[in-house]
Amino acid sequence: MLDVSDALAVVLNYARPLAPVGAALGPAALGRVLARDAVADRDSPPFDKSLRDGYAVRFADAADRRVVEEIAAGAVPSKAVGAGECSRIFTGAPLPDGADAVVMQEDCTPLDGGRVRVNDRVRPGQWVFPRGTEMRAGDVVIPAGTVLNPAAVGVLAGIGTAEVFAYPSPRVTVIATGDELVEVAATPGPGRIRNSNGPMLAALATHAGAAVRDAGIVRDDEAALRAVIGTALAASDVVVLAGGVSAGAFDLVPGVLAQLGVEPHVHRVRMKPGKPLLFGTKDGVLVFGLPGNPVSALVCFELFVRPALRALAGHADPGPRTASLPLAEAVAESNDRPTYRPAKLEPAAVGWAVRPLAWAGAPDLRGVQPADALIVLPAGDARLDRGDPVAVVLL
Ligand code: AMP
Ligand code: MG
Repeated sequence: MLDVSDALAVVLNYARPLAPVGAALGPAALGRVLARDAVADRDSPPFDKSLRDGYAVRFADAADRRVVEEIAAGAVPSKAVGAGECSRIFTGAPLPDGADAVVMQEDCTPLDGGRVRVNDRVRPGQWVFPRGTEMRAGDVVIPAGTVLNPAAVGVLAGIGTAEVFAYPSPRVTVIATGDELVEVAATPGPGRIRNSNGPMLAALATHAGAAVRDAGIVRDDEAALRAVIGTALAASDVVVLAGGVSAGAFDLVPGVLAQLGVEPHVHRVRMKPGKPLLFGTKDGVLVFGLPGNPVSALVCFELFVRPALRALAGHADPGPRTASLPLAEAVAESNDRPTYRPAKLEPAAVGWAVRPLAWAGAPDLRGVQPADALIVLPAGDARLDRGDPVAVVLL
């Protein structure tokens, strides 16, 4: 049985970034990791640009000036501004030759005879955004490895990146296993329960940036499992199974994976909940067999599957994200394995603290639902007081 950190190292050793692909720039690029440096094709702004509607002037001139032309955004100045002259100019328009400042129209009074009076002192360069201030042609404006946010989409658009070269979203198939399971819309008969894991794991994987297919429920039946898992292996980067990985007579998943040629690398991890976790690979496809208990499935997803998905998607920091925070209330736990407990972050006098949530134990998914962190209690007799630092996994 491996420790959590060793099991994660094994998983990440097999979770290599997928081959980058080009895709049309758009909202679908959000959250993806750029695979090539984005380089400016030209200076931005491409010319000295007016930042206000007003007049392009020579700052040292006297107050009254003669207006020689009007320059709207998108236009090109045709006249240089000489001594005692100015041009009417609008936000975004190129500054004409000779001008060295822009005066806001609010600070000017139009006079008769095509003249204008500047009522304020003029500082050189005011309301002008000089060419190349934002970027120079050839600058790396977004380095490879950057996670694309909305502003990055805007920057890429500005430099003409119609096709963005990024790591693709991993293709994930989610499979819930168990004879007791019925579809979400069904009313469970005696002894049956609804399939919580399928929708939850599909949501988790989607949240982690994956392209998800929910393959639904598969019975505890070798032939049925073989068929569905076989199909998933052929069309996925990652297969996430839930249920059937423990040591019971109906826990058929490990045997079926072996039949299908999935090589096991991890089976059982020193943690609570989540001990039965299984991880294997076949032809580069990662296969996770998560425990059926939904809380265990969620904890294993956060500790192992999400980091693997992030690594496949090119993230340099696969996580999980951890921190050490003071406890907002005392906790005690005796266990032979490190234990993960749902918790909530809250502002403290200085920084943040973490408060354990009321929780009825491993079968209580409802109690976990509000959690934004998991407290990690070490194995043994863990007794921690209010204010003691504790390790947390951030969800
Ligand atoms: P297993 O890992 O198959 O032994 O399942 C462990 C526990 O989780 C059992 O109580 C199952 O009924 C429950 N369980 C398994 N799969 C699901 C699921 N998809 N949704 C909700 N509970 C499940
Ligand atoms: Mg089962």
